[in-house]
Amino acid sequence: MSTALALEPVIGIEIHVQLATRTKMFCRCSLSFGDPPNTHTCPVCLAHPGVLPVVNAEAIRLGIVAALALGCEIAPRSVFHRKNYFYPDLPKAYQISQYDEPLGVDGHFSVLRPEGELEVGITRVHLEEDAAKLLHLSSGGRRAGAEQSVVDFNRGGTPLAEIVTEPDLRSAADAAEFLKQLRQTMRQLGVSDCNMEEGSMRADANVSVRPVGSTGLGTKTELKNMNSFRFLERGIEAEIARQTALVEAGERVVQETLHFDPSTAELHSLRSKEEAHDYRYFPEPDLVPVVPARGWVEEIRSSLGELPVDRRRRWMSELGISYEDAEVLSETTELGTYFEDVADRVDAQSAANWIRGELRSQLKDSGVAPWESKATPERLAELIQLVADDQIGSSAGQEVLSEVLASGLPPAEIVDERGLRQIQDADALGAIVDQILADNPKEAEQLRGGKQKLIGFFVGQVMKETKGSADPKKAQELIRERTD
Ligand SMILES: [Zn+2]
Repeated sequence: MSTALALEPVIGIEIHVQLATRTKMFCRCSLSFGDPPNTHTCPVCLAHPGVLPVVNAEAIRLGIVAALALGCEIAPRSVFHRKNYFYPDLPKAYQISQYDEPLGVDGHFSVLRPEGELEVGITRVHLEEDAAKLLHLSSGGRRAGAEQSVVDFNRGGTPLAEIVTEPDLRSAADAAEFLKQLRQTMRQLGVSDCNMEEGSMRADANVSVRPVGSTGLGTKTELKNMNSFRFLERGIEAEIARQTALVEAGERVVQETLHFDPSTAELHSLRSKEEAHDYRYFPEPDLVPVVPARGWVEEIRSSLGELPVDRRRRWMSELGISYEDAEVLSETTELGTYFEDVADRVDAQSAANWIRGELRSQLKDSGVAPWESKATPERLAELIQLVADDQIGSSAGQEVLSEVLASGLPPAEIVDERGLRQIQDADALGAIVDQILADNPKEAEQLRGGKQKLIGFFVGQVMKETKGSADPKKAQELIRERTD
């Protein structure tokens, strides 16, 4: 095989998000992360004989929210199956999961990127329950050297939505960005807290490479359970590099499941295709199919509101703010609404600059969010307008903001009280400019002779003379008038 072959990566992602319900998928045990082990269990989630599962309606609703936000069609009928396998974290020896009749299918999600949008197909969204948590106890904390393994059943039966994409991603960076924007969407819609450290969002990536221009798919490998955006990106990058090297060396990629170790940046094989399980899926006889009423689905659809991605796109196209500003300001629904309320009153870019810059920096140590602070959108907009109109300079603006945050007083009142208003008056300022020109005849002559650099010197003198209260733009204008 030629080594000159240009290869492109083909990546699809599977994401598990833990649904933000109060109780488990099929029983009434409560969900809470970090509680003492085995304190949230009952005969249903411990699989005692003769018990029956009951579907959590809120889990179905959140699953529908997720599927609709991803542009999926909601199946008129979806079915829970038993996925059979034996493992200590699964007391029933089967997981209840949707299989060939999932809740939502045929969706799409647009990923915003500085270089343009990328549409990612969503194959399916289905519901399932999580397994319990195995803890491997050893003095070194390593699984390999564990002396003992114990099970915490608190997590067993947690409702999950699994989201599966089409293999539409072409780079590790795009895959990470997709996941970030998906998380933002799921969080803002209240589907899940998507806390990756606590495992409430987990991602697997399917990676293959193929010659550029080819439409077929190469043999794929699966990277399991990546719990941060950075690890996901680095893991996919490492796997693309590994497969590319294999293909360029004329070797074959073997279908297998891999684990990326972020501490060593190495990929380890967990199992090959030959070891793949036959799960013997069959419909769960203890549950009826999910048949959501059309009216209910439409009610949920109309409750979604504007999705974060749509909001960001609108800000960029209609308000003209940058990709990066839109990204930062849309971080939470509340921050986005706060920004919009300010931008309704003043120039949107100035609003973005003030919120991201001075406001954020002044609030940093207080732990107070902008929308909870005394700088209400009205107050901040008033302040921004005072600066835009050159009523006050930008350093006075910082001082006024600090006082607004402390007292909540109207900015104009603070400006007057502290005498921060800039001298705009052409007569008053003109007299000062005349005096300074007369006091510095040599520099004035050089400026008249074309030495433009001296403008700065004279503006500085005016600012000094007025103790910083002159409008520097106006001062410059008056100096130019007199020396042209
Ligand atoms: Zn239970």
